[in-house]
Amino acid sequence: MSSATMTPQRAAQETLRAYHHGGAPRLPVDPVAVARSLGVNVYEVVLPNTTSGMIAKVSDVAGTDILVNSEHAPKRQRFTVAHELGHYIAILNDPDRVSNPFLHKRDSLSSCGTDTEEIFANRFAAELLMPEDEVRRAARVGASVYQLAAQFDVSVDAMNFRLVNLGLARG
Ligand SMILES: [Zn+2]
Repeated sequence: MSSATMTPQRAAQETLRAYHHGGAPRLPVDPVAVARSLGVNVYEVVLPNTTSGMIAKVSDVAGTDILVNSEHAPKRQRFTVAHELGHYIAILNDPDRVSNPFLHKRDSLSSCGTDTEEIFANRFAAELLMPEDEVRRAARVGASVYQLAAQFDVSVDAMNFRLVNLGLARG
């Protein structure tokens, strides 16, 4: 997968496909299990309330760790892990950065990367947790936004936003 052609949607789809050995995603997607399958450690830790989480590789030889705020609601933690994993996938696909230390921290005062990196990570997270094909299939059979939010284990707000982005909102 070359970074020049890699959209966040495609990156998330390929990540899910690899995790499910080519099969359809099992819902709800477990972003912690997906991260761990890629060799990324995930730890729930106490962080300042303003900090959702971070991803770090502290040295050339260290592993990659995602830290997620253990005090935050589970659905928010799921999105944070998926978002940080999006940063990891972007870095993996950038040969200039893959072996170097990095740190992305996500809090209410500062986002954890450049705008481009944030948009990538957010779109990656949306596709990872709410895969387009699966959302379309569920929406087609008439599931409400509440049912969809429960099925995909995301907040109603996140699912509403997803439906709007996919042109599936019913007003
Ligand atoms: Zn970020």
